Amino acid sequence: MKYILVTGGVISGVGKGVIASSFGTILKHCGIHVTSIKIDPYINIDAGTFSPYEHGEVYVLEDGGEVDLDLGNYERFLDVTLHRDNNITTGKIYQHVISKERHGDYLGKTVQVVPHITDAIQEWVEKIAQNPVTEDGEQPEVCIIELGGTIGDIEGMPFVEAFRQFQFRVKKENFCCAHVSLIPQPRSTGEPKTKPTQSSVRELRGLGLSPDLILCRSEAPIGPSIKEKISNFCHVAPEQVITIHDLSSIYRVPLVMESQGVIEFLNCRLQLNIGPRSRYFMRKWTDLADRIEHLRKEVNIALVGKYTRLEDAYTSVSKALQHACIEAGYKLNLKFIESINLEENTKIKNPPLYHEAWHHLCKSDGVVVPGGFGKRGFEGKIEACRWCRLNDKPFLGICLGLQAAVVEFARNVIGLENANSTETDPATAHPVVIDMPEHNQGQMGGTMRLGKRPTRFITTNSVMKQLYGNKDHIEERHRHRYEVNPIYIKDLEVAGLKFIGHDDEKLRMEIAELEGHSYYVATQFHPEYLSRPLKPSPPFLGLILASVGRLKQFLASGCRLSPKQLSDNDSDTENICEDMKNLQTVDGSSRSGSTTSGGTNE
Ligand code: GLN
Repeated sequence: MKYILVTGGVISGVGKGVIASSFGTILKHCGIHVTSIKIDPYINIDAGTFSPYEHGEVYVLEDGGEVDLDLGNYERFLDVTLHRDNNITTGKIYQHVISKERHGDYLGKTVQVVPHITDAIQEWVEKIAQNPVTEDGEQPEVCIIELGGTIGDIEGMPFVEAFRQFQFRVKKENFCCAHVSLIPQPRSTGEPKTKPTQSSVRELRGLGLSPDLILCRSEAPIGPSIKEKISNFCHVAPEQVITIHDLSSIYRVPLVMESQGVIEFLNCRLQLNIGPRSRYFMRKWTDLADRIEHLRKEVNIALVGKYTRLEDAYTSVSKALQHACIEAGYKLNLKFIESINLEENTKIKNPPLYHEAWHHLCKSDGVVVPGGFGKRGFEGKIEACRWCRLNDKPFLGICLGLQAAVVEFARNVIGLENANSTETDPATAHPVVIDMPEHNQGQMGGTMRLGKRPTRFITTNSVMKQLYGNKDHIEERHRHRYEVNPIYIKDLEVAGLKFIGHDDEKLRMEIAELEGHSYYVATQFHPEYLSRPLKPSPPFLGLILASVGRLKQFLASGCRLSPKQLSDNDSDTENICEDMKNLQTVDGSSRSGSTTSGGTNE
């Protein structure tokens, strides 16, 4: 197993996660099985109880792990399935060590940060790195470890010390450190400044880790003279300095890194045995980045949420919309609308805000009401559902969005006055959305219905079923405590809101579709977590196509885009296979050992 530790210097928030994922993307295209571990040095056990305002969205894994949104980057970039243990927090490590102490595993000893915590970190990393993360079940060969925060943070110290020891434990040729730093370019002179990078590299070295690669983030491109300077002052060769300025899209990052010789460096440093690459290397990825830059026609989507002050709170939904837009050939113009601003109360207290919010909603081509929690802004979401229903506006409700659509329908179509979810109004006369019986009340962490669950389509006559390729059943990820109340289902369906997808026990309503509407669908699951750049999530693709008036044609043609788009959008897997084929080395052998005779030597 080879390990690449990615650390951060100067400040956080410069794209360390994307850079770490990009290492994985590049290596994956070389035919290497890659996994990743994200370390968050906070004391929480997981991200489940975070406010989206502080950390952005909570990302949900297949096994129900509630983790940092960076794990989403890895899953999307590498098309892998990670597990809850791929996210390490200080809380998890201490919980593990303390339970061993109670069990008597350290009898007679004083349990300390060094060696017990640092040992536990190393053991965890070594063990989890072995877990297969791809469908073929193959053991990974390279593990990318991203250490959250910046070097010098008190919380991160035990982890840095653990990796200082780890480099000797696994041997030099199996471990390298990539340090992501910032090169500020003050407006006054525009001149790139290397001092902060020098200081953070010195700090890293002082803690016993030497950077093998220094990745310099900057606003504008950085010239060779600055590379030279960093090389001189930070005691690395010029080819160990990689510069990454602000790019048109995150998909350019792996390409920029590759163009600066990252593969050659890692191949030599970690003895990866990567052969020569063909001129088609990462071509689909290049095509993807090019296509994003050349999208001209726009589609206006409104996202009606509650945490709209921080766009990171809806990262996966935004990405899923983007993936669908790329596939459909449209540029996404996404407007975040604070749902509370759509409410009558805002009209009285702050009319300009109210009118602005409604203006954006009315101007949109399609609307998403994403997941969420609590009472605030729920009425605004219900208003958005009503407006979409009455105006034949394409609508996708996710989790709380489905619940809002059900409440709206019960109130305004069936006529159940004040119908509500018991999450918002526990004493409602018409509880159309209720607490699930198995939900463990009283505890907040990890008590929801979480992770991958099946949904079975119970009809053939469904837009969603067609979008999902007419499969009988699908599997998507969940994160909720409330569900549609079974006793109201018949009335809702008779009035036109059909629940066309159920869980295996037929207890949970998973997908709702409104009869006679161009696209009014809602899911209890979160389809956004399984969307990939080259494999958009079907409900999102449906929304975008409906928003640009192309859904009918798409469904009529058996869910095919126009021939040109189709040829552009083959699956990523094919792309990787092509790269693998072309990876055949000059002597005719291949890393994969299974190169077909069609492989080209280039
Ligand atoms: N608050 C709702 C529930 O717990 C919806 C959750 C969500 O949207 N993720 O069921």
